[in-house]
Amino acid sequence: MCKFSGSPYLFRRRNFAAEWEDEALVPTANGWLDGLQRLLCNYIVRAADIHHYAVQNFYGRSWVVNLENKECECVQWQMRGFPCVHAVACLAEKRPNWLE
Ligand SMILES: [Zn+2]
Repeated sequence: MCKFSGSPYLFRRRNFAAEWEDEALVPTANGWLDGLQRLLCNYIVRAADIHHYAVQNFYGRSWVVNLENKECECVQWQMRGFPCVHAVACLAEKRPNWLE
């Protein structure tokens, strides 16, 4: 007979994680991505080539995004390892697999 040993907190986390789909983003990343996608209407995306984009907000501020190197001028993508709103704006039109 297997008896669970550990704190109730770890038990709840283990059960919560067991419900995740194997090929899906973790819930926090999904929520973050949903939030960023709601902001896309505030940006204008202009492609320079297949990997390089300029993303401009309605105040005239612009950022250069390099999709190939996973870099944005705001540096959030490089620092967090998760695409910033500017990168998501560029990627959204491509309908990417967000797991990649
Ligand atoms: Zn950015």
